[in-house]
Amino acid sequence: MAKKTAYETAMEQLDLVGKRMGLSETVIEQLREPERSLKVRFPVRMDDGKVKTFTGYRVQHNSALGPTKGGTRIHPEESYQDVVALSFWMTIKNALAGIPAGGAKGGIVADTLKLSDSELERVCRKYVREIRLVMGTRKDIPGPDIGTPQKIMGWFIDEYEQCLGEHEPGALAGKPPLLGGSLARNKATGTGLVYVLERYLGLQGEKVEGKTVAVQGFGNLGGTAAQILEGKGAKVIGIADVSGAWYNPAGMNVRDGREYAAQNKVLSGWAGGDVISMEEFFALDCDVLIPAAIQSQIRGDNVEQVKAKIVIEGANGPTTPEAEEYLLGHGVVLIPDIVANVGGAVTSYFEMVQDLYMYFWSEAEVLERLQKHMVGVFDGVWQVAQEKGVPLRIAAWMIALDKIVQAMEMRGRF
Ligand code: NAD
Repeated sequence: MAKKTAYETAMEQLDLVGKRMGLSETVIEQLREPERSLKVRFPVRMDDGKVKTFTGYRVQHNSALGPTKGGTRIHPEESYQDVVALSFWMTIKNALAGIPAGGAKGGIVADTLKLSDSELERVCRKYVREIRLVMGTRKDIPGPDIGTPQKIMGWFIDEYEQCLGEHEPGALAGKPPLLGGSLARNKATGTGLVYVLERYLGLQGEKVEGKTVAVQGFGNLGGTAAQILEGKGAKVIGIADVSGAWYNPAGMNVRDGREYAAQNKVLSGWAGGDVISMEEFFALDCDVLIPAAIQSQIRGDNVEQVKAKIVIEGANGPTTPEAEEYLLGHGVVLIPDIVANVGGAVTSYFEMVQDLYMYFWSEAEVLERLQKHMVGVFDGVWQVAQEKGVPLRIAAWMIALDKIVQAMEMRGRF
């Protein structure tokens, strides 16, 4: 069976919720495609003296609620359609979280594992040069995503400000704090996910402590979430990254795994658990499964193996619609991406607010505001889900689409 693309998943979700909400075809048609897409091709000199041409995208999906905003992904399999889907999810996510911004996403087709540091820097700087005309605090604010940690955001803002000839830190999220970044931004998405999980468990009279957890994706989001959960007494029995999957029924030493991955770029060769296949990873008998890598990981062909009681989506679109239907039909609680991973977007927004005021908050202040925000978002979604008897994802989309459609109507867009 062909793997469902992120775009196909996003469109199915839109059609499903759009129909339920009675949205007109005119509105759905506008949401199906982004407002503006930029494809760039740029030459970069490699360390061996040869020139290689790279492809990048910046897609601005919908600006009804404000300047567009969303991360930048560097991945070898990045495609225009994937970036469109991700930009669309950002529109929904920002609206749900009450962030005064529309949705956007960027991508560079490249394998960071195959580039030297200086090659990667040249690729990033060229990309920013190419997209800078559509960037800006009042236009479109890129941020981090897969393959774009803080160090890369430092190159991004430097290139942007050099081209502009002035400082404008608010035009980019996820910068190092000394360059105008928010404290705690680099751990915000993983921390936010844990706040949401704790809130859900709290409503059930349960705690994180003692829960068994499996995390796919061991980067910024998955690594942070796993470490916090371990610190709160959960047992992380499975972790996986692009290089493989590991299982340890006694619980992993997550910090050790993170240090190993930081030094070696991937977990390959790590001795912290037994090596298992990705099929075995998704079949692990655990309380909580956190897909925190890439899209379309829990699908029609592997969902029947999933034994977790709670799936909390860290990655964007990791569960295809048919897999979701199966999980919900089998009593699994699915906390959707746009609720669980919105902490990064929220803190990017906090970063912009701090940049505009040039007044910065302490880490404790950022995390306190983040927790309040995440709990507020989750509670709103939970309430609508209970009232309308719909799954959490549908409830979240209904809240978000209602705001977007109202803003589109006020702007006379239909
Ligand atoms: P990252 O680059 O820090 O880490 C990505 C991790 O996923 C790595 O461990 C990598 O090895 C693993 N991975 C990549 N491809 C894989 C594959 N095919 N199979 C298994 N593992 C694979 O990225 P991140 O920031 O942690 O982002 C992870 C996910 O979270 C993405 O879907 C991203 O869109 C989403 N997300 C991130 C943020 C953020 O602020 N960082 C915010 C919202 C959503």
